[in-house]
Amino acid sequence: MLIESSGKQGGDAAGEQEERREMEEEEERRAGGEEEEKKDERGEDIPARWFMNNRVPPNKRYQPTEYEHAANCATHALWIIPSLLGSSLLHLHSEDQWERMSAWVYGAGLTSLFIISTLFHTVAWKKSHLRSVEHCFHMCDRMVIYFFIAASYAPWLNLRELGPWACHMRWLVWVMASFGTTYVFFFHERYKIMELICYTVMGVFPALVILSMPEQSGLWELLVGGACYCLGMVFFKSDGIVPFAHAIWHLFVAMGAAIHYYAIWRYLYAQPPNQDLDHLGSKACEATSNHL
Ligand SMILES: [Zn+2]
Repeated sequence: MLIESSGKQGGDAAGEQEERREMEEEEERRAGGEEEEKKDERGEDIPARWFMNNRVPPNKRYQPTEYEHAANCATHALWIIPSLLGSSLLHLHSEDQWERMSAWVYGAGLTSLFIISTLFHTVAWKKSHLRSVEHCFHMCDRMVIYFFIAASYAPWLNLRELGPWACHMRWLVWVMASFGTTYVFFFHERYKIMELICYTVMGVFPALVILSMPEQSGLWELLVGGACYCLGMVFFKSDGIVPFAHAIWHLFVAMGAAIHYYAIWRYLYAQPPNQDLDHLGSKACEATSNHL
Protein backbone atom coordinates (compact mmCIF):
# COMPACT_ATOMS: atom_id res chain seq x y z
CA MET A 1 0.00 0.00 0.00
CA LEU A 2 2.81 2.30 1.07
CA ILE A 3 4.72 1.40 -2.04
CA GLU A 4 1.61 1.96 -4.12
CA SER A 5 0.96 5.39 -2.66
CA SER A 6 4.59 6.44 -2.92
CA GLY A 7 4.53 5.19 -6.50
CA LYS A 8 1.44 7.28 -7.13
CA GLN A 9 3.08 10.31 -5.54
CA GLY A 10 6.14 9.69 -7.69
CA GLY A 11 3.88 9.50 -10.73
CA ASP A 12 2.15 12.78 -9.77
CA ALA A 13 5.49 14.46 -9.24
CA ALA A 14 6.67 13.23 -12.62
CA GLY A 15 3.44 14.49 -14.17
CA GLU A 16 3.86 17.93 -12.57
CA GLN A 17 7.46 18.04 -13.70
CA GLU A 18 6.40 17.16 -17.25
CA GLU A 19 3.71 19.87 -17.18
CA ARG A 20 6.19 22.45 -15.88
CA ARG A 21 8.67 21.49 -18.60
CA GLU A 22 6.00 21.88 -21.28
CA MET A 23 5.07 25.33 -19.92
CA GLU A 24 8.72 26.36 -19.91
CA GLU A 25 9.09 25.15 -23.49
CA GLU A 26 6.00 27.10 -24.53
CA GLU A 27 7.43 30.25 -22.91
CA GLU A 28 10.74 29.69 -24.67
CA ARG A 29 8.93 29.25 -27.97
CA ARG A 30 7.11 32.52 -27.49
CA ALA A 31 10.26 34.29 -26.36
CA GLY A 32 12.11 32.98 -29.39
CA GLY A 33 9.36 34.17 -31.73
CA GLU A 34 9.10 37.67 -30.35
CA GLU A 35 11.30 40.28 -31.84
CA GLU A 36 12.09 42.29 -28.78
CA GLU A 37 14.31 45.31 -28.48
CA LYS A 38 17.30 44.20 -26.41
CA LYS A 39 20.10 46.17 -24.85
CA ASP A 40 23.80 45.49 -25.16
CA GLU A 41 26.42 45.77 -22.36
CA ARG A 42 26.55 49.56 -22.67
CA GLY A 43 22.78 49.75 -22.43
CA GLU A 44 22.32 50.71 -26.08
CA ASP A 45 19.45 49.28 -28.08
CA ILE A 46 20.17 46.28 -30.26
CA PRO A 47 17.71 46.27 -33.15
CA ALA A 48 15.41 43.23 -33.26
CA ARG A 49 16.85 40.53 -35.50
CA TRP A 50 14.27 40.06 -38.20
CA PHE A 51 16.41 37.64 -40.21
CA MET A 52 17.18 34.96 -37.62
CA ASN A 53 16.41 33.81 -34.07
CA ASN A 54 18.84 32.18 -31.66
CA ARG A 55 19.88 28.61 -32.15
CA VAL A 56 18.13 26.06 -29.91
CA PRO A 57 19.46 22.83 -28.33
CA PRO A 58 19.22 19.69 -30.51
CA ASN A 59 16.14 18.35 -28.68
CA LYS A 60 14.12 21.52 -29.35
CA ARG A 61 12.56 22.95 -32.48
CA TYR A 62 13.94 26.19 -33.90
CA GLN A 63 11.43 29.04 -33.94
CA PRO A 64 11.76 30.99 -37.23
CA THR A 65 11.23 34.76 -37.34
CA GLU A 66 8.20 36.15 -39.17
CA TYR A 67 10.32 36.77 -42.27
CA GLU A 68 11.80 33.28 -42.15
CA HIS A 69 8.29 31.82 -41.84
CA ALA A 70 7.20 33.77 -44.91
CA ALA A 71 10.29 32.65 -46.86
CA ASN A 72 9.70 29.01 -45.83
CA CYS A 73 6.17 29.16 -47.23
CA ALA A 74 7.06 31.06 -50.40
CA THR A 75 10.05 28.93 -51.39
CA HIS A 76 7.89 25.83 -51.77
CA ALA A 77 4.51 27.41 -52.67
CA LEU A 78 6.21 28.87 -55.73
CA TRP A 79 6.73 25.40 -57.18
CA ILE A 80 3.22 23.99 -56.84
CA ILE A 81 1.90 25.31 -60.18
CA PRO A 82 5.11 24.50 -62.16
CA SER A 83 5.11 20.94 -60.75
CA LEU A 84 1.46 20.48 -61.78
CA LEU A 85 2.21 21.80 -65.27
CA GLY A 86 5.36 19.68 -65.51
CA SER A 87 3.46 16.53 -64.52
CA SER A 88 0.81 17.28 -67.14
CA LEU A 89 3.52 17.73 -69.75
CA LEU A 90 4.93 14.27 -68.99
CA HIS A 91 1.42 12.88 -69.26
CA LEU A 92 1.01 14.49 -72.68
CA HIS A 93 4.30 13.00 -73.85
CA SER A 94 3.34 9.51 -72.65
CA GLU A 95 2.96 6.94 -75.38
CA ASP A 96 1.97 3.86 -73.46
CA GLN A 97 0.51 2.77 -70.14
CA TRP A 98 3.90 2.43 -68.40
CA GLU A 99 4.82 6.00 -69.29
CA ARG A 100 1.41 7.31 -68.29
CA MET A 101 1.49 5.48 -64.97
CA SER A 102 5.05 6.64 -64.22
CA ALA A 103 4.15 10.24 -65.11
CA TRP A 104 1.18 10.08 -62.79
CA VAL A 105 3.15 8.59 -59.87
CA TYR A 106 6.08 10.98 -60.30
CA GLY A 107 3.80 14.01 -60.72
CA ALA A 108 1.82 13.05 -57.61
CA GLY A 109 5.02 12.71 -55.53
CA LEU A 110 6.49 15.97 -56.81
CA THR A 111 3.35 18.07 -56.40
CA SER A 112 2.37 16.67 -53.00
CA LEU A 113 5.87 17.43 -51.66
CA PHE A 114 5.44 21.13 -52.40
CA ILE A 115 1.77 21.28 -51.37
CA ILE A 116 2.24 19.53 -48.02
CA SER A 117 5.41 21.45 -47.22
CA THR A 118 3.62 24.76 -47.95
CA LEU A 119 0.64 23.72 -45.80
CA PHE A 120 2.88 22.70 -42.92
CA HIS A 121 4.90 25.93 -42.99
CA THR A 122 1.71 28.01 -43.21
CA VAL A 123 0.24 26.23 -40.19
CA ALA A 124 3.55 26.55 -38.28
CA TRP A 125 3.53 30.27 -39.04
CA LYS A 126 -0.09 31.26 -38.56
CA LYS A 127 -1.60 28.50 -36.42
CA SER A 128 1.29 27.42 -34.19
CA HIS A 129 -1.02 27.60 -31.12
CA LEU A 130 -2.89 24.59 -32.53
CA ARG A 131 -0.11 22.30 -31.38
CA SER A 132 -1.64 18.96 -32.39
CA VAL A 133 -2.60 20.26 -35.86
CA GLU A 134 0.90 21.61 -36.37
CA HIS A 135 2.38 18.32 -35.14
CA CYS A 136 0.19 16.39 -37.58
CA PHE A 137 1.27 18.57 -40.53
CA HIS A 138 4.90 18.28 -39.47
CA MET A 139 4.60 14.48 -39.55
CA CYS A 140 2.99 14.64 -43.01
CA ASP A 141 5.78 16.97 -44.17
CA ARG A 142 8.33 14.35 -43.14
CA MET A 143 6.34 11.38 -44.46
CA VAL A 144 5.85 12.87 -47.91
CA ILE A 145 9.65 13.07 -48.39
CA TYR A 146 9.82 9.25 -48.47
CA PHE A 147 7.11 9.08 -51.11
CA PHE A 148 8.72 11.87 -53.06
CA ILE A 149 12.02 9.94 -53.18
CA ALA A 150 10.26 6.73 -54.28
CA ALA A 151 8.25 8.68 -56.89
CA SER A 152 11.42 10.34 -58.23
CA TYR A 153 12.95 6.92 -58.90
CA ALA A 154 9.75 5.42 -60.34
CA PRO A 155 10.14 6.65 -63.97
CA TRP A 156 13.74 5.36 -64.15
CA LEU A 157 12.86 2.02 -62.60
CA ASN A 158 9.74 1.61 -64.76
CA LEU A 159 10.95 2.89 -68.11
CA ARG A 160 14.64 2.02 -68.29
CA GLU A 161 16.11 -1.39 -68.91
CA LEU A 162 17.55 -2.65 -65.64
CA GLY A 163 19.35 -5.84 -64.74
CA PRO A 164 17.34 -8.98 -63.86
CA TRP A 165 17.68 -8.38 -60.14
CA ALA A 166 17.50 -4.62 -60.24
CA CYS A 167 13.89 -4.70 -61.40
CA HIS A 168 12.91 -5.70 -57.88
CA MET A 169 13.93 -2.23 -56.79
CA ARG A 170 10.73 -1.09 -58.51
CA TRP A 171 8.62 -2.34 -55.63
CA LEU A 172 11.36 -2.26 -52.98
CA VAL A 173 11.44 1.58 -53.06
CA TRP A 174 7.77 1.62 -52.07
CA VAL A 175 8.39 -0.86 -49.26
CA MET A 176 11.17 1.44 -48.02
CA ALA A 177 8.89 4.50 -48.32
CA SER A 178 6.18 2.70 -46.32
CA PHE A 179 8.73 1.70 -43.69
CA GLY A 180 9.95 5.31 -43.41
CA THR A 181 6.37 6.59 -43.09
CA THR A 182 5.60 4.09 -40.33
CA TYR A 183 8.80 5.10 -38.57
CA VAL A 184 7.77 8.79 -38.67
CA PHE A 185 4.32 7.89 -37.34
CA PHE A 186 5.74 6.16 -34.27
CA PHE A 187 9.02 7.98 -33.62
CA HIS A 188 8.60 11.44 -35.14
CA GLU A 189 11.39 13.78 -33.98
CA ARG A 190 12.56 11.31 -31.33
CA TYR A 191 15.82 10.08 -32.86
CA LYS A 192 16.88 12.73 -35.34
CA ILE A 193 20.03 10.91 -36.42
CA MET A 194 17.94 7.82 -37.24
CA GLU A 195 15.68 9.96 -39.43
CA LEU A 196 18.69 11.25 -41.29
CA ILE A 197 19.98 7.68 -41.82
CA CYS A 198 16.55 6.57 -43.13
CA TYR A 199 16.42 9.43 -45.67
CA THR A 200 20.00 8.77 -46.77
CA VAL A 201 19.40 5.01 -47.27
CA MET A 202 16.17 5.72 -49.12
CA GLY A 203 17.91 8.28 -51.33
CA VAL A 204 21.15 6.43 -52.06
CA PHE A 205 20.22 2.72 -52.17
CA PRO A 206 18.06 2.82 -55.35
CA ALA A 207 20.68 5.05 -56.99
CA LEU A 208 23.13 2.13 -56.87
CA VAL A 209 20.73 0.19 -59.09
CA ILE A 210 20.27 3.13 -61.45
CA LEU A 211 24.06 3.45 -61.75
CA SER A 212 24.23 -0.09 -63.10
CA MET A 213 21.74 0.46 -65.92
CA PRO A 214 23.07 -0.33 -69.42
CA GLU A 215 21.72 2.92 -70.91
CA GLN A 216 23.63 5.70 -69.12
CA SER A 217 22.06 8.90 -70.50
CA GLY A 218 20.67 11.12 -67.76
CA LEU A 219 23.07 9.77 -65.16
CA TRP A 220 24.91 13.07 -64.80
CA GLU A 221 21.72 14.98 -64.18
CA LEU A 222 20.69 12.40 -61.59
CA LEU A 223 23.99 12.81 -59.76
CA VAL A 224 23.92 16.61 -59.91
CA GLY A 225 20.32 16.63 -58.62
CA GLY A 226 21.34 14.25 -55.81
CA ALA A 227 24.29 16.53 -54.97
CA CYS A 228 21.84 19.46 -54.63
CA TYR A 229 19.87 17.54 -52.00
CA CYS A 230 23.08 16.62 -50.13
CA LEU A 231 24.37 20.20 -50.21
CA GLY A 232 20.98 21.44 -49.07
CA MET A 233 21.22 19.19 -45.98
CA VAL A 234 23.97 21.51 -44.69
CA PHE A 235 21.39 24.33 -44.52
CA PHE A 236 18.69 21.99 -43.21
CA LYS A 237 20.90 21.60 -40.14
CA SER A 238 21.85 25.31 -39.91
CA ASP A 239 18.77 26.90 -38.30
CA GLY A 240 19.91 29.76 -36.08
CA ILE A 241 23.39 29.76 -37.63
CA VAL A 242 22.61 30.85 -41.18
CA PRO A 243 19.74 33.34 -41.69
CA PHE A 244 16.87 31.84 -43.70
CA ALA A 245 18.60 28.45 -43.54
CA HIS A 246 15.40 26.44 -43.95
CA ALA A 247 14.26 28.52 -46.93
CA ILE A 248 17.70 27.97 -48.52
CA TRP A 249 17.24 24.22 -47.94
CA HIS A 250 13.88 24.50 -49.72
CA LEU A 251 15.59 26.15 -52.69
CA PHE A 252 18.15 23.34 -52.89
CA VAL A 253 15.29 20.80 -52.84
CA ALA A 254 13.53 22.72 -55.62
CA MET A 255 16.76 22.88 -57.63
CA GLY A 256 17.42 19.12 -57.20
CA ALA A 257 13.82 18.34 -58.16
CA ALA A 258 14.03 20.63 -61.22
CA ILE A 259 17.23 18.92 -62.45
CA HIS A 260 15.69 15.46 -61.93
CA TYR A 261 12.53 16.58 -63.70
CA TYR A 262 14.57 17.82 -66.66
CA ALA A 263 16.40 14.47 -66.87
CA ILE A 264 13.14 12.50 -66.75
CA TRP A 265 11.50 14.72 -69.35
CA ARG A 266 14.48 14.72 -71.70
CA TYR A 267 15.72 11.15 -71.50
CA LEU A 268 12.57 9.19 -70.73
CA TYR A 269 9.77 11.14 -72.37
CA ALA A 270 10.98 13.60 -75.00
CA GLN A 271 13.59 11.24 -76.48
CA PRO A 272 12.75 7.74 -75.36
CA PRO A 273 15.43 5.21 -76.26
CA ASN A 274 14.71 3.11 -79.34
CA GLN A 275 13.51 0.14 -77.42
CA ASP A 276 10.16 -1.43 -76.74
CA LEU A 277 9.54 0.39 -73.47
CA ASP A 278 6.26 -1.30 -72.78
CA HIS A 279 7.93 -4.61 -72.15
CA LEU A 280 11.34 -3.67 -70.79
CA GLY A 281 10.48 -4.05 -67.15
CA SER A 282 8.45 -7.20 -67.53
CA LYS A 283 11.19 -8.75 -69.69
CA ALA A 284 13.79 -8.10 -67.01
CA CYS A 285 11.58 -9.64 -64.37
CA GLU A 286 10.70 -12.59 -66.60
CA ALA A 287 14.42 -13.19 -67.08
CA THR A 288 14.84 -13.37 -63.32
CA SER A 289 12.01 -15.84 -62.85
CA ASN A 290 13.27 -18.02 -65.76
CA HIS A 291 16.70 -17.95 -64.20
CA LEU A 292 15.23 -19.15 -60.93
ZN1 LIG B 1 10.39 22.83 -44.86
